[in-house]
Amino acid sequence: MLEPLAHIGRDPRSGGYVRDAWSAADMELRGWFAGEAARRGLDLREDRNGNLWAWWGDPSRRPGVVTGSHLDSVRHGGAYDGPLGVVSAFAALDLLRERQVTPGRPIGVACFTDEEGARFGVPCMGSRLLTGALTPERALALTDDDGDTLADVMTRAGRKPADVGHDAETLATVGTFVELHVEQGRGLVHEGRPVGVASAIWPHGRWRFDFHGRADHAGTTRLADRDDPMLPFARLVLAAREAAERHDVVATVGKTRVSPGNANAVPGLVTAWLDARGPAEPAVRALVEELSAAAGADVREESWTPEVAFGAALRDRLARVAGGDTPAPILPTGAGHDAGILATAGVPSAMLFVRNPTGVSHSPEEHADQADCHAGVVALADVLEDLCR
Ligand SMILES: [Zn+2]
Repeated sequence: MLEPLAHIGRDPRSGGYVRDAWSAADMELRGWFAGEAARRGLDLREDRNGNLWAWWGDPSRRPGVVTGSHLDSVRHGGAYDGPLGVVSAFAALDLLRERQVTPGRPIGVACFTDEEGARFGVPCMGSRLLTGALTPERALALTDDDGDTLADVMTRAGRKPADVGHDAETLATVGTFVELHVEQGRGLVHEGRPVGVASAIWPHGRWRFDFHGRADHAGTTRLADRDDPMLPFARLVLAAREAAERHDVVATVGKTRVSPGNANAVPGLVTAWLDARGPAEPAVRALVEELSAAAGADVREESWTPEVAFGAALRDRLARVAGGDTPAPILPTGAGHDAGILATAGVPSAMLFVRNPTGVSHSPEEHADQADCHAGVVALADVLEDLCR
């Protein structure tokens, strides 16, 4: 089932995927989703924020059990982050039908828009808008690298930006949400198990640092006469690593923009994005405050997500049902997910992880063995069957 997606948005040079929200690749993925829904006779709906829902049963009478994930990707990401959850959702539904299960509640397959935030810098855009965690005013004004706003690109895709925002009606159809996802670490490798359950999502955020200087000639400008923003930027990168070790968190500068960006020019402006996460919010906050104070840059918080602890009862139920003879291991994660946004909005939510042999994610190297993917589908089907009783 992953095969028909393998070519969509693939960059032959990196071997990774570029699947920005509302891009041509995204539209093709949405088409694939619609086809899978139609093939199974599911009722396809797109909500006001562009999230897709394929229903088996009518959730307007009774909230359903929803599973799914996202189809967009970080730039040059792997094949599994997101798509594995969507493909497994359809496969689990097939398995339930094969088992001749008659669900006591509607079952939905969801695909959330712009989970990675690759284009506009805010992750989980679709679920944040749906739940009201992000205002439409702020979202629609965000710009991509070409200077296009979300409103522009949605209009071009034939959607109505005026409709974007908190959607209580759609949210009310989601009684429970279970997201299956490739693990983005090696917890399950250490446990020796193919499938695990999430305990919590670490608090995490993104900050934009603008270092201002003066663009100048790299040959004729004496060192003493330069105002080179690359130097404080470099100090930030090293300080982030040092502070992360001290505060027992993780901090990453993974994206920069240098202007004018010539090899023979002192830059005039360096923009860098800091991503920081950790098990404890005060430690993450302390790191960001420390770096901001020392950076000599204009600092803006682009997103912040507090810790999400998934409900213990649902989590333990999943671990029991998905684990077979021995309960599935329960693991925290440093990665954000739509399941976390829904949980924060009060929707009972949980996550299943599928083993990732290298732990590498957000890279073309991301992988899951087919046998483990199958184990994930069986676990998800077992969970859905249990929750739909
Ligand atoms: Zn993901």
